[in-house]
Amino acid sequence: MALEPRSERQRVAIDEVETYGAHNYSPLPVVVASAEGTRVTDLDGNHYIDCLSAYSAVNFGHGHPALVAAAQAQLGKVTLTSRAFYSEPFGPFVKALAEMCGKDMVLPMNTGVEAVETAIKTARKWGYESKGVPEGRAKIIVMEGNFHGRTTTVISFSNDEDARKSFAPYTPGFVHVPFGDADAIEAAIDDDTVAVLFEPIQGEAGVIVPPEGFLTKVREITARRGVLMIADEIQAGLGRAGSTFACDREGVEPDVYVLGKALGGGIMPLSAVVANREILGLFQPGQHGSTFGGNPLACAIGSAVVELLSTGEMQERSRVLGERFRAGLQPLLDAGWATAIRQAGLWLGVDVNPDLGTAKEICYRLMVKEVLAKDTHGHTIRFAPPLVITEAEVDEVIAHTLAAFEEAAAHKGVVRADVEPEIDG
Ligand SMILES: *Cc1c(COP(=O)(O)O)cnc(C)c1O
Repeated sequence: MALEPRSERQRVAIDEVETYGAHNYSPLPVVVASAEGTRVTDLDGNHYIDCLSAYSAVNFGHGHPALVAAAQAQLGKVTLTSRAFYSEPFGPFVKALAEMCGKDMVLPMNTGVEAVETAIKTARKWGYESKGVPEGRAKIIVMEGNFHGRTTTVISFSNDEDARKSFAPYTPGFVHVPFGDADAIEAAIDDDTVAVLFEPIQGEAGVIVPPEGFLTKVREITARRGVLMIADEIQAGLGRAGSTFACDREGVEPDVYVLGKALGGGIMPLSAVVANREILGLFQPGQHGSTFGGNPLACAIGSAVVELLSTGEMQERSRVLGERFRAGLQPLLDAGWATAIRQAGLWLGVDVNPDLGTAKEICYRLMVKEVLAKDTHGHTIRFAPPLVITEAEVDEVIAHTLAAFEEAAAHKGVVRADVEPEIDG
């Protein structure tokens, strides 16, 4: 199936990207010119419902008025001081974020992977300086199927061959266990273990929700064994999974939160590590940093994001509308067109029956119907619309999704599992 752009104009724009840009992504053939709320508009003026939200970086919708206002007000004042000086928005941001997380301190960075790197450095430092692990021996337990970003250290403990291949030598010090297996974590812990690093729901892996009770068990094990529990909530957090943090689903508080994506409101890259004083307080001047980390523009937006989350409305919308979305897709399972649907808040992973073609082909069919969603790992479609999506828009997306699968099934001649075959004679 050729995934053609919808116009010559878009084809020309795409050709320019494919000629001069490195091919480290494989986008759907749509060129976005503008966006507002849940809608993005292409070069030809077609409107789409955004069901990816830039991998949850745009949780509050494109151009949320409160976030744009905060950004514009700060743009006119000062955008970058570096941490060589203090800036006005810095204090209010770290205070608000620390309070939202119920922790003492915040270490701000920019991209998500920088926050993960910071968390790794934090855990090792804590291991050597507080726990008493001999220098150079610290081990961090990570999950199979993890995604924590793209730096050399972080891809060192990825299981994804595409992410790792040709980038060796790898950083040592990481031990894998199967995601969702608390007993395996317990068994992997030894005297040199400093942390368990995990996503409370694995996003890039296809919205993989761990078995109920997993987070509670990890909390119990890590507390008992004296190991830091580090939750990478970069994609799962800030409302996406139906609560402020995905760990809230089991009422669990990790030792360290790693945040990013939606923290910058889809306007600025803004990430952070949030933890108590006995952990983050180990950093002394000169031991870690970032020129843009904690810049005034990002902090002003970050404060507005924390404010937006304070009413609980976004989390509630995610919870209620996510269930509606999931229920609406049930016919895909009944027909045998999807082999599994996983859901947490407004975050769904739908596994496409391979007989219907690839997830990317279905995403292309959805694109033509003016819904933008993203495939992951070949056969999974991920839906993560902005949390400001309306009930009517959710219903629209459901209808288009059912239609896209139906078309794909018809195209491949796949028989519906829920329709009784006619028996001759
Ligand atoms: C996206 C993501 C990251 C990396 O964030 P970047 O801003 O792309 O560096 C890390 N962890 C998780 C769980 C993510 O989803």
